[in-house]
Amino acid sequence: MVFDLKRVLRRDLENLAPYQVQPSRDGLIRLDANENPFDFPPFLQDEIYRQLKSGSFTRYPDDLAGELRKAISQSTGVPEEGIIPGNGSDELILNLCLAVGNGAQVAIATPTFSMYRVNSLIAGAAPVDIPRLKAGFALDLESLGKIAANEKTRLIFLCSPNNPTGNATPVEDVAALLEHSRALVVVDEAYIEFGGQTCLPLAEKYANLVILRTFSKAFGLAGLRVGYLLGDPGVVKELLRVKQPFNLSTFAQVAACTVLAHREEFLKMIDAIRQSRDALKQELASLPGMTVFPSEANFILFRTPLPAKTVFDRLLQEGVLVRNLHGSGLEECLRVTVGREEENEVFLEKMRKICL
Ligand SMILES: *Cc1c(COP(=O)(O)O)cnc(C)c1O
Repeated sequence: MVFDLKRVLRRDLENLAPYQVQPSRDGLIRLDANENPFDFPPFLQDEIYRQLKSGSFTRYPDDLAGELRKAISQSTGVPEEGIIPGNGSDELILNLCLAVGNGAQVAIATPTFSMYRVNSLIAGAAPVDIPRLKAGFALDLESLGKIAANEKTRLIFLCSPNNPTGNATPVEDVAALLEHSRALVVVDEAYIEFGGQTCLPLAEKYANLVILRTFSKAFGLAGLRVGYLLGDPGVVKELLRVKQPFNLSTFAQVAACTVLAHREEFLKMIDAIRQSRDALKQELASLPGMTVFPSEANFILFRTPLPAKTVFDRLLQEGVLVRNLHGSGLEECLRVTVGREEENEVFLEKMRKICL
């Protein structure tokens, strides 16, 4: 028998490119992935190791991450039955798509985080872009309202503050959409610690609102993969059907609980990042021909007068890694994560060298 690999694979995924990151980031100033730039507090790291008893490695973890669920419940006010911890919020995005699944229409307010589209496709759903307005990347409420009322639409992805544009959506806009939506409306609040208003208060009134949060950005746990979903207990119960068992490692559960118990340590860093963001924005805007978009997050989107690829490549040569977002709706745009003060200085110095 001749084995034909193509024959056994899904045709509809033929053109789906694997998620790609910079092959090596070693030795670079990494301003490309919106991580927390500061060192994880050593005393908290010690605390996590102390809690990992030898038994922790041989037994499966707590399937629903009970302790973490309790801690998230305390910090958000959402009852435990309305919470699902995930192996990064990426896993929860996939679970949402799997739950609505095959052929379902999924509306996405673009430009935005790529995983809404990718995970829709993986789940066999049909993503539909609803482009944000030219003015400040605000939601196109009229178009979203139309697609939300369409019975084919099962899921709507909004991100606030939005990656990569940086703007937050007013809570009233989300409320207006929820009012007329027959679909689940997901608001991804991965950057909410840095700015914008949370939509969580709307959850009491709307059972179709789902909120996503993560420990990967403000809380410095990108390497351990922890996110969570907040929603109506009825919705959560259904979503648990597609959850992988033991999706969060014991290590990740212990680390996330420790972070929540010491939230104040991170609030200091978040404050510093917000201040650096505003300073960085001003400096960038002083370069000739540069358009710098307002940001409520820990990154800044900017449009350069030079081709984005030229700026990206030259920054990389100089040892600084950012994200090149050149493409539909974001012509000649790059995104820079707010780093530590000294990293931002090097980035600005290289930008001046390239652009002046
Ligand atoms: C980084 C990011 C995520 C992914 O978070 P993980 O919890 O690390 O999977 C989700 N949503 C947005 C908008 C992000 O930028």
